[in-house]
Amino acid sequence: MKKLVLATANKGKVKEIKALCKAYEVAPYTDLIEEFEIVEDADTFKGNALIKARAVYEALGDEDAVVLADDSGISVDILGGAPGIFSARYGGVNASDKENLYKLIAEIKAKGASSSPAHYTAAIAIVTKDKERTVHGWMYGTAITEARGEKGFGYDPMFVPAGFDKTLGELDDGVKKELSHRSKALALASKVLKVL
Ligand code: IMP
Repeated sequence: MKKLVLATANKGKVKEIKALCKAYEVAPYTDLIEEFEIVEDADTFKGNALIKARAVYEALGDEDAVVLADDSGISVDILGGAPGIFSARYGGVNASDKENLYKLIAEIKAKGASSSPAHYTAAIAIVTKDKERTVHGWMYGTAITEARGEKGFGYDPMFVPAGFDKTLGELDDGVKKELSHRSKALALASKVLKVL
């Protein structure tokens, strides 16, 4: 079976990708080599996903490797698209999910608003010896200025997906799986993997 190496050690992401890429033996890169720091200094989700996938491909030193990396975040219209690619560190370099969430609520309130249209983006890059491919998925909805529910992670308690009146913190996990930016991008990525 062909190996698919993930440029992440995040257990949740590894599990999701394993479920969708059954034709591959899926492993986080940290199962193969030591974890190393990757500077994500591109100005798009796609650029950062490519940086991670290329860095892991190079570090593996295995020319047959297939490497998959993702980058994601939330963009809020009233804030001109912030935090965007800075979603993971919006509240500071080592900010927790909760600190990021409350910083975003405060920034929307500071604009005098109680909600704003917003969307999540996920970019996935797949790098092999001679090919680089990228795909995207999006989930649209409304960012509100209160945190409701404990499900999901990150900004989910303040995000109401389009067509719903509850936040992703309140809705069942199954709903998010159907709708999410990452699920959509992964569905496209699995198609790319089939034709590599
Ligand atoms: P990444 O792991 O570098 O892609 O960072 C993604 C960051 O964006 C996370 O730390 C979250 O703050 C945010 N984010 C991305 N996807 C989601 C999601 O599905 N729910 C909530 N927050 C998310």
